[in-house]
Amino acid sequence: MPEATQKEEKVFRGIAVSAGVCRGKILVLGKASRHIARHALTDAEVADEVARLEKAFLQTREQILEVQQKVTEAMGAMEGRIFDAHLLVLEDPVLIDEIVRLITEQKINAEHAFQTVAEKYTASLAAIDDEYLRERATDMRDVTERVLNNLQGLSEGKNLRHLKEPCIIISHDLTPSDTAQMDKQHVLGLATDVGSRTSHTAIMARALRLPAVVGLKNASEELESGEYALIDGYNGVVIINPTDQTLFEYGQLVRKQVTLEEKLRDTISKPAVTLDGQKILLSANIEQADDAEAVQAGGAEGVGLFRTEYLFINRESAPIEEEQYRAYRRVAVALKPHHVVIRTLDLGGDKFLSHLATANEMNPFLGWRAIRFCLAQPELFCAQLRAILRASAEGNVKMMYPMISGLDELNQANTLVEECKTELRKAGVAFDENLEIGAMIEIPSAAVIADMLAKRLKFFSIGTNDLIQYALAVDRMNERIAHLYEPTHPAILRLIKTTVDAARRNNIPVSVCGEMAGEPMFTPLLLGLGVDELSATPSLVPQIKFLVRRLKMSEARALADFALNCESSTEILARSQALARDIAPGLFENKL
Ligand code: PEP
Ligand code: MG
Repeated sequence: MPEATQKEEKVFRGIAVSAGVCRGKILVLGKASRHIARHALTDAEVADEVARLEKAFLQTREQILEVQQKVTEAMGAMEGRIFDAHLLVLEDPVLIDEIVRLITEQKINAEHAFQTVAEKYTASLAAIDDEYLRERATDMRDVTERVLNNLQGLSEGKNLRHLKEPCIIISHDLTPSDTAQMDKQHVLGLATDVGSRTSHTAIMARALRLPAVVGLKNASEELESGEYALIDGYNGVVIINPTDQTLFEYGQLVRKQVTLEEKLRDTISKPAVTLDGQKILLSANIEQADDAEAVQAGGAEGVGLFRTEYLFINRESAPIEEEQYRAYRRVAVALKPHHVVIRTLDLGGDKFLSHLATANEMNPFLGWRAIRFCLAQPELFCAQLRAILRASAEGNVKMMYPMISGLDELNQANTLVEECKTELRKAGVAFDENLEIGAMIEIPSAAVIADMLAKRLKFFSIGTNDLIQYALAVDRMNERIAHLYEPTHPAILRLIKTTVDAARRNNIPVSVCGEMAGEPMFTPLLLGLGVDELSATPSLVPQIKFLVRRLKMSEARALADFALNCESSTEILARSQALARDIAPGLFENKL
């Protein structure tokens, strides 16, 4: 047993966003001050430790020079010079001597020696009654953070690319780009102070099958790296120093889940057909070309949503057409004859680019996002359109636009597609002349005019994550109002129904690709409302299929009829849960 189990158990409660249980040491990111353990060195280790310190200083210097150059280019020489003060800290002989002396004389690790001296300097600078010198304390903190990151193998800020050992990441926040670049082999689970079930970091955690809890409020401030913790991604709990009793209880829970997973494994290769014979199309949401394998492993029939943004983030420049083409083609070929719905770029909101200076917006989810951003950047957009068109020659590719709010955007996007097709034809490049184009219905205005859109499109895909946030005016990222984010709100059900009715009248299919499609408790409701396809994170597809195979469409329709006539979201939720639990109780046995 780890010695930490003898310490007092502490429980933090948040929002469960990715199922599973994990245990291990925590790594707390981005704290204003962090605890660095002191280790004793042997005589033989001292020289290496000094060398490690020197290397970290050099690495830090290079990083600062790089940032300085970027800032100078983007903002001007004056702003760039701010970093001169940071470089001076690294060159200060008095500071360096003092740290080296501590390492050699007291035989302690470089991190601890460095932090001790740096904190002393920072404290004395901060106490001086002179604004200029007080400012230097901030520079000192900044440099300290960078040097410590380098010494600890976290090369920059929240750069999670290189972790030394398996750990649970605890942070105030994690952006989708932090999560995307994470050293997946070494991350056991995630927990953040902020966020909600539909934030893209939560979606990524599910795709990576990492237990995750968000909305822990101030856990990252209270916790220290190195503490031992357990993450319960079923119930939204983080337990620090779990007692033997807690570990025993979780052992039982994990065993139950393993049994369930074995049952689900049997379902994977079976068809998604209800008890009364209705075939349901179950597809998967993916974020990168590598996920094609997971789609097959989860028993999904194709891809209902390929979020292409992840090809664009965490890099210095946008991927060229050729690189995108190769990624799209790879998925199309791997999953042929199944369909792959490639969504055009949905940047903005919580997914930003490092190489494109997007304005600092007050409301990024209501701002320069998705199709709005693409229509304003026709070159970038057309490179993607050409790449998708080219990939369509090699598989069952479909394309859809995100965030369509009205006909103008749709018409403008379609005009660009036609221009790209003409270009490709002229160049003799193959593409599917009948490539189907659909749109996400994720803005309430699109649902309301679904009849107009349906005449011009080949399919709809309802993005409930955004549809709920926009219809109910509830920020999908904000844990404080997460209780108001209600998928069963009567307004949401009416918007879904309006969309389905318009699609029916125009003979086009409707899928749901928001997170609601991956929640078994909503499967009967969505199918009852007339949705044809559910697209979910690959790891969640088996449980949806398990439920579908135990469901009768007549029950699903009765539930939807009830829901459309009910005024209370809580009651609709309770009925939906009751039906799902009734037909597949095993899926819901993960509460402690
Ligand atoms: C949605 O909004 O439901 C959706 C699937 O798109 P995203 O989560 O990428 O915004
Ligand atoms: Mg969306």
